[in-house]
Amino acid sequence: MRTSQYLLSTLKETPAHAEVVSHQLMLRAGLIRHLASGLYTWLPTGLKVLKKVENIVREEMERAGSIEVLMPMVQPSDLWEESGRWDDYGPELLRLNDRHQRPFVLGPTHEEVITKLVSNEVSSYKQLPMNLFQIQTKFRDEIRPRFGVMRGREFLMKDAYSFHSTDECLKQTYQVMFDAYCRIFERLGLDFRPVIADNGSIGGEGSHEFHVLADSGEDDIAFSDASDYAANIEKAEALAPSGERATPTQELNKVATPDAKTIESVANFLKIEANTTVKTLLVLGEAKDDEAAPIIALVVRGDHELNELKAEKLEGIASPLTFATDEQLVAATGANAGSIGPVNLNIRVIADRSAAHLADFVCGANEDGFHFIGANWERDVTTYEVADLRNVVAGDPSPCGQGNIVIKRGIEVGHIFQLGQKYAQAMNCGVLTESGKNQTLTMGCYGIGVSRIVAAAIEQNHDKYGIKWPEAIAPYQVAIVPMNMHKSARVQETAQNLYAQLQQAGIEVIFDDRKERPGVMFADHELMGTPKLLVVGERNLDNQQIELKDRITGEKSLIAIDSVMALFN
Ligand code: ATP
Ligand code: MG
Ligand code: MG
Ligand code: MG
Repeated sequence: MRTSQYLLSTLKETPAHAEVVSHQLMLRAGLIRHLASGLYTWLPTGLKVLKKVENIVREEMERAGSIEVLMPMVQPSDLWEESGRWDDYGPELLRLNDRHQRPFVLGPTHEEVITKLVSNEVSSYKQLPMNLFQIQTKFRDEIRPRFGVMRGREFLMKDAYSFHSTDECLKQTYQVMFDAYCRIFERLGLDFRPVIADNGSIGGEGSHEFHVLADSGEDDIAFSDASDYAANIEKAEALAPSGERATPTQELNKVATPDAKTIESVANFLKIEANTTVKTLLVLGEAKDDEAAPIIALVVRGDHELNELKAEKLEGIASPLTFATDEQLVAATGANAGSIGPVNLNIRVIADRSAAHLADFVCGANEDGFHFIGANWERDVTTYEVADLRNVVAGDPSPCGQGNIVIKRGIEVGHIFQLGQKYAQAMNCGVLTESGKNQTLTMGCYGIGVSRIVAAAIEQNHDKYGIKWPEAIAPYQVAIVPMNMHKSARVQETAQNLYAQLQQAGIEVIFDDRKERPGVMFADHELMGTPKLLVVGERNLDNQQIELKDRITGEKSLIAIDSVMALFN
């Protein structure tokens, strides 16, 4: 590429409204331009980086056995009604009507569309497991779009969905995806950590987020300083109640089941006033005395007021409360009817720290092999005070039992879930098994924020001069910077020859053929973060040499012109 024929668009000044360094540098280096809140145009240089990230993601997904499809960004509302998310998703879902007044949404995610597709296309267990991915634009009407493409409203995501007839098979694919994600972030050259995550409103169990570590990250990650334990702060909080951790063999305390059929009775029971802002309300039903009982959970997330929650979610709330009947447990878990005893109802409410009344209550089996003890509904719910309810803080003992907690900031660049049957059940997605029975499928879903990665990579790789791209995603591998080319035929000829040779060899090279002062050219290429600069100057040509400047190390060296190609072997 010749800069004279390119849209370089670099800026000298740091735009005042850009708060984080990646946003500043993406604007200054001419990677993106703002169109409207949370909406950006990708300029040529930015687009090259985006495509490189996309290709690495694509290659590793394919290597891991996932197959690419492309689903529409515009989705009919009926699918969302079928899954229940037309009512549940909230204001991040952008709804629109076509000319016939038929309602549609701009897809914030694609569980509905893919589940519908698979339910139509896959009919036999022999076709399973099936793992499909796409790289597609998403739209989420974020309440606070910010940090440029880091939290845009329109953004590029890789989303994959896997379908299985058994949980075991889902777990295997989940692990394959976990490993593929590690390879992706390694290839991208990023300092990242997988962390245990909450499933949020998506349902199911088993979830990890992948975070790029950076001070500008919006999430807190809790690490153990003595083991591999890492969890996002919400999850670490959930794992660190004041209760003691017991071994699986210890008997669970018998707890009274509150008569909690409505949100009012839950509120009453927990002594929370109406209008309290509830951050998380998690209702767990489990089979008592059944050690291996899986958790059945409804998690309502978001900043709901308790009475608003009632208006909005009463149906959702009511079902898990009645959910915990024997038949429903049997149906939901596939457990043996005989093994299901009376059901304990575990309710954990984390109110805002500012709220006057707080309760934090966890008991029963929260995770296979981990049982919290010492909880008693009557006694404990009212005795927890504000001071007892806090996030894990640095120095706390790690919930994993080894070491102490260290807290760092992270940018969520990927998120994988074991979804379970939520969508398959709602949308009637099943196959015929070997014995001819209809079997509802179980699902996993796996997201990567492709466009967010570009910003996250800059957060980790920059200096005061600009971006320092990791090799794998640099827009250009090398820049040719001739000094005063328009005054020296020799410089011009050498630069042009080098350019032709590098292009011939398929190396991504940018040739700065502008009539600019050397200082301007250097500043632009350093800003854009090209890993290698080849500086062609009159004086060094006397010795058939040019100067090689390494953007990452800052080192300069003289090399023979005919050894340039060897740099790219
Ligand atoms: P966040 O917590 O940052 O809002 P999320 O948990 O809502 O993200 P997921 O539903 O898990 O996002 O989507 C998968 C991935 O898509 C995220 O891990 C993230 O990398 C990316 N992503 C989500 N929202 C945005 C956004 N507004 N702009 C850019 N990337 C995003
Ligand atoms: Mg979000
Ligand atoms: Mg998140
Ligand atoms: Mg997420």
